[in-house]
Amino acid sequence: MLIKAEGKEYVLEEAGCYAFEIGEGLEVEGLDFERVSGFMEEGGVLEFEPAYYDSWCENCEHGKGGKAKSYRFLAFDFYIFTKEGRIVASSLDKDYQEHGVLAMEKKGMVDGSLLVEVVLCPNCGEYSIEVLPCDF
Ligand SMILES: [Zn+2]
Repeated sequence: MLIKAEGKEYVLEEAGCYAFEIGEGLEVEGLDFERVSGFMEEGGVLEFEPAYYDSWCENCEHGKGGKAKSYRFLAFDFYIFTKEGRIVASSLDKDYQEHGVLAMEKKGMVDGSLLVEVVLCPNCGEYSIEVLPCDF
């Protein structure tokens, strides 16, 4: 998929995902890499923003052992909405963009949400995905 960050375009290859992690105890039917990257694919060109973390990229270990106190990445967040433990939508969907999660919640379409954090290393161009539980 094509993404944008600071005016540059990057291509995220599926094979470039070096880590896909699901938060402990999260049980959601059909939650896997294919489903998550499918939502991102449908979302069009995603805008990543600079983000700073206190440890280096686990994949390329760029800057490891150096004196840096923070390491620069590019990050993108979105939400996945669930109902009774099943995935129903994401914040990248047109439905959500038009009506918002409160409307979906009101209609009884959703009863839970997950935060998806995608972190891209500008050095090696590979990325990780983490899915975490999230309260409305
Ligand atoms: Zn890296």
